Amino acid sequence: MTTKRTRTLTALSIAIAGAVSAGTATAATPPAATASDGPAKIVVIGLDGTMLDHIKRANTPNLHRLMAEGTTGSSSILGHPTISAPSWSTILTGVWNTEHGVQDNSFAGARYDRYPSAFTQIENADPALRTVAISTWDGIATVAGSGSPKADVVTTTPNAGSEGATDTATATAVASEIAASGPDFVFTQLDQVDGAGHWTGTLGPAYNQAVEAVDVEVGRIVAAVDRRQRDAGERWTVLVTADHGHLLFGGHGGQTPDETSTFVIARGDGYQAGGIDNGYTITDITPTVLETLGVPRPANLDGKPLAKSVPVA
Ligand SMILES: [Zn+2]
Repeated sequence: MTTKRTRTLTALSIAIAGAVSAGTATAATPPAATASDGPAKIVVIGLDGTMLDHIKRANTPNLHRLMAEGTTGSSSILGHPTISAPSWSTILTGVWNTEHGVQDNSFAGARYDRYPSAFTQIENADPALRTVAISTWDGIATVAGSGSPKADVVTTTPNAGSEGATDTATATAVASEIAASGPDFVFTQLDQVDGAGHWTGTLGPAYNQAVEAVDVEVGRIVAAVDRRQRDAGERWTVLVTADHGHLLFGGHGGQTPDETSTFVIARGDGYQAGGIDNGYTITDITPTVLETLGVPRPANLDGKPLAKSVPVA
């Protein structure tokens, strides 16, 4: 906490020094400090097995609001396993499975030593930054708990009786964490949409019902972010993405367009409202997180930070 306060004061001092030097026209002038110049924070909401087409069709006011206020990208992971552990590993390292080595949900062959998670990269850059993983599926804890240093908080939500109830508990914990500590990087994964996809496929009513239920959880997390932004002056970015899609009759693991489908929604800190960025790939999440927090990006990442200047739909 002390370190964070020091960082903020340092930024203000630089801004003030810039304003003073501007009077003598001897130096480039940094932008003036304003109430919105608080520390950058980012939350990544992972919606397992969720397809953008269904989000658009379903009654999902919270995700629709994020799309209206931010930039949306439709994407594919063609050529990459459409399986959770490889995909979340790609999302959380910024490199494809051919580098991080995770090919299936056994996590066998993981190379987080060579391609550390975003949590490890952030903690290496500045141990005072607070990094948090709170997820429904325990595979996320495998990634977030790997490497040294690992995330400050690594939590898998205990089974609350149904996937929907467990997601609610996950989102409650995420919202509480954001309200209490304003963490610098929060990653969460919600699992009920994937469960519904396996149960009835995307054709069955359960799939869209789960998409609508998970939208409520997204809304609770975003409400915590918005309160924090308003009350603490923090500059929050919200990213939403998915690891893979689902077949019409359920399941994934193959290379069809439905299974390889993924997406991103990026809202806050300069992302274009109503923007479209279909150049997105899931390797872009970690580079975006690092850039948002001002953490140097390793040269060996496959992805790049999401664009802020994009066409409007
Ligand atoms: Zn699945």
